[in-house]
Amino acid sequence: MSTIFEKIVAREIPASIIYEDELVISFLDINPNNKGHALIVPKKKFVNIFDSDEMVLGHMMHIAKKIAQGLVDGVGATGVNIVMNNGEDAAQEVFHAHLHVIPRYPEDGVFQRPKTKTYEDGEAMKLAEEIKNAIA
Ligand code: AMP
Repeated sequence: MSTIFEKIVAREIPASIIYEDELVISFLDINPNNKGHALIVPKKKFVNIFDSDEMVLGHMMHIAKKIAQGLVDGVGATGVNIVMNNGEDAAQEVFHAHLHVIPRYPEDGVFQRPKTKTYEDGEAMKLAEEIKNAIA
């Protein structure tokens, strides 16, 4: 079964498309955090960052820069959040990878500052070592 975003790529369902090339398509999110909120989606589906084609993933970020600038120049955004939810516990709902490009305006109240946690003595160093070893 194809994802909702594959259906948009195939023009089986409508979308407000703002950009397209051979690798990605970008269209407006149907439930925007702010008006102009865009998604950038690989045409050839991968689920999220974990199974991503790195070249396409890099290209998605390249296009995110272009769209971010378009939101500033075209509709007057004064800031932009780039978000990628990867996995159910990270609030991913559509399991076809996508970057969110969310235009921001002064005092728009779109996001609350996320809650923060505190490290015990030495805990951050230990954790850094574990992550460093995992990616080595
Ligand atoms: P995520 O939680 O990162 O998986 O977000 C999925 C996003 O896709 C949500 O912000 C939805 O509003 C958006 N979305 C779902 N269906 C459509 C659609 N048909 N057209 C545009 N955006 C959609």
